[in-house]
Order: sequence, then structure tokens, then C-alpha cells
Amino acid sequence: MAPLPKKKHSKSRTKRARAHFGFKAPQLSKCPSCTTLIKPHHACPKCGIYKGEYYVDTATFEAKKVNLATK
Ligand SMILES: [Zn+2]
Repeated sequence: MAPLPKKKHSKSRTKRARAHFGFKAPQLSKCPSCTTLIKPHHACPKCGIYKGEYYVDTATFEAKKVNLATK
């Protein structure tokens, strides 16, 4: 038989536990090329650059990898 709760939890006990479920704002940093705020470990939504290389063609949203050194 599965374990069952013996007594009903009070409203305050439930709410106290759910006080820790809230969302936190992500740690945003500035894109080095266009200074837009970007999420960590994500390509820049404006210019598509991640770690100095183009990964996203922002005009067509088609994944591209063009090295900046060859341009
Ligand atoms: Zn950018």
C-alpha cells in the first residue's frame, strides 16, 4: 500500500512551502558586439553571435556557422 498523508496540511504550511517556487530573473549580460542584453550560453537574439562566431542568421532564423575570421 502506498504511503498516505495522515493529516491535512494547513493553508499556511502549504503556502510556506510554495514560497520557494517563484521564478527568478535570469542573469543577463551584454553582447560584446551590439551591447544587447543576452542570456548566458545563448546566441545574441539581435546579431546571432555567440563566443565571437555567427551561429544564427537573424534575418531568416536559419542556423549558420560563418567564422568571423573568413569574412
Ligand atoms: Zn549582439
